[in-house]
Amino acid sequence: MQPTPKTLKLGQAEVTQIVDIVSETFAVGDIFPDADARLVERLMSQGVPGFAKGASPMVDLSFYGTLVRIGGQTLLIDTCCGHDKKRPARPGWHMRQEGPFLGNLASAGVTPSEVDFVMCTHLHADHVGWNTKLENGEWVPTFPNAQYIFSEIEYRHWQNEALRAEPGALLYGAYEDSVLPIINSGQALLSDPGASPCSGVHIEAAFGHTPGNMSIHVESDGQQLMLLGDVLHHRMQLADPHLNTRFCCDPQMARDTRQRLLHRVVADKALIGGGHFTGQAYGKLEPDDAGYAFVDANQALLAEGIPKSRGF
Ligand SMILES: [Zn+2]
Repeated sequence: MQPTPKTLKLGQAEVTQIVDIVSETFAVGDIFPDADARLVERLMSQGVPGFAKGASPMVDLSFYGTLVRIGGQTLLIDTCCGHDKKRPARPGWHMRQEGPFLGNLASAGVTPSEVDFVMCTHLHADHVGWNTKLENGEWVPTFPNAQYIFSEIEYRHWQNEALRAEPGALLYGAYEDSVLPIINSGQALLSDPGASPCSGVHIEAAFGHTPGNMSIHVESDGQQLMLLGDVLHHRMQLADPHLNTRFCCDPQMARDTRQRLLHRVVADKALIGGGHFTGQAYGKLEPDDAGYAFVDANQALLAEGIPKSRGF
């Protein structure tokens, strides 16, 4: 049996990290072509999580979704890499069979049929994989009773790209095996910033990493959490908020969005969830030099006199 995933209390809501891949290692330049080698060296020497030593410095990225239980509703934000997906260009995601995602969801006390809403911050292959599962050779929704919320701008962008791309080649194949089956099942709901699937949760515009990228804002009893998605991949971007990944499709917009949202969560004293942080995924930010320091969520809540959450 898998250990119970960490659950954070946010007012009356519960927030649980659902891990699909604990850690995958990449050359720094494969993810952050503009990373300053001195910054990497400094953060590594400070013991900041998310780095690995190799012949050259490497970064570790984790792939996880977030389960939010609020007001009797069950939401799953981002569905990672999935099983049985053909991703030859990404060996770590290719034809996986033993991923822990659904087991971690079960350990958190939730079956796929109990998920009311699946929200994909964007449609990259590592955020939609568990949207579908393979059943008798067909891709079917993994969460049979859920409405799947996609950003309309995001979906229309990839729909247009699909007119030009080889079928199956778009998004490493994820458009065909993890997005279209949801559209065809009638379970997709295309939404705009400001939309709210249920009380306490709404979508925030976070464009730049992808055309319709969205962050998810959760609030209960005055406590706030901003699930930033891929506005942030790694803690290095807290030290240097200008730093984009090579996957950010509009670099200037991605920087502007990051600056705006980081400024906002500090002003609002909100918790954040980064897109691919290893170690503690949720925390608070404190302004620090040119960027921000990350204080893990439980330490931050304890400092405010809020009792310790489960599993920390
Ligand atoms: Zn991602």
